[in-house]
Amino acid sequence: MREIDVTLITEQVRALCMRANTDLGEDVLQAFDRAIEKEESPVAVEILKELKENARIAREEQVPICQDTGFTVVFVEVGQDVHLVGGSLNEAIHEGVRQGYRDGYLRKSICHPFSRANTGDNTPAIIHADIVPGDKINVTIAPKGAGSENMSRVVMLTPSEGIEGIKKFVVQRVKESGSNPCPPTIVGVGIGGTMEQAGLLAKRSLLRFLGTPNPDPELDRLESEILGEINKLGIGPQGLGGRTTSLAVHIRMMPCHIASLPLAVNIQCHVQRHKEVTI
Ligand code: SF4
Repeated sequence: MREIDVTLITEQVRALCMRANTDLGEDVLQAFDRAIEKEESPVAVEILKELKENARIAREEQVPICQDTGFTVVFVEVGQDVHLVGGSLNEAIHEGVRQGYRDGYLRKSICHPFSRANTGDNTPAIIHADIVPGDKINVTIAPKGAGSENMSRVVMLTPSEGIEGIKKFVVQRVKESGSNPCPPTIVGVGIGGTMEQAGLLAKRSLLRFLGTPNPDPELDRLESEILGEINKLGIGPQGLGGRTTSLAVHIRMMPCHIASLPLAVNIQCHVQRHKEVTI
């Protein structure tokens, strides 16, 4: 049994919050480059170049990529041979978020749903914890902005609606979202499970690095088909037209009940932030 002091987790979460909000991943920058090569609209090309420039400034000057520094979504995988000491894992994560948002001068965006009073420190974080084999802890921080989160939906399709029903719903969701989620977007899709599990599958699908294929060939084909349909909509970068409405569609799937077909669409803006560490 390996002992890990939770203060180490607080330190790592603090650092990850600041890195995630200032350092856009290489996979996203490369996706911008691929989009620039394919784009026919001069305005769209210009916007994609602006997004690259914005990311460069954020990284070099250590300032947030976007003013919306998001709800702090945390995925944590705890090895079953780890013994956590020194306090509660959840509280250690919340404390890391508190320190990261304070020390990184990141906007605090979390409030009471009715009074709208700000909690003042971007907590609580949304923590998804899993027990896995081994003696390590993996922590991923994925801040999620509201502009794209607000455009996300969960729907319980009937089994007879099948793959065609899934394609139709996802493309329609992107169409209705228009410029609200700050395109170009990454469209996370969760299929199967229960209502809440579909949403989690969709959110987890966004952690896959852009440009990497889906390990399931059937889902890989479906992702390409849906992306093709989305990019015919003409919404384009920032909604000003063009073929780059989305950079990718990512799908995760699991079995579902014989009487249902849960489907979740979690839309992610071009500020596709996630950073991880293994302790
Ligand atoms: S949707 Fe994304 S890019 Fe748009 S304001 Fe929110 S975090 Fe920023």
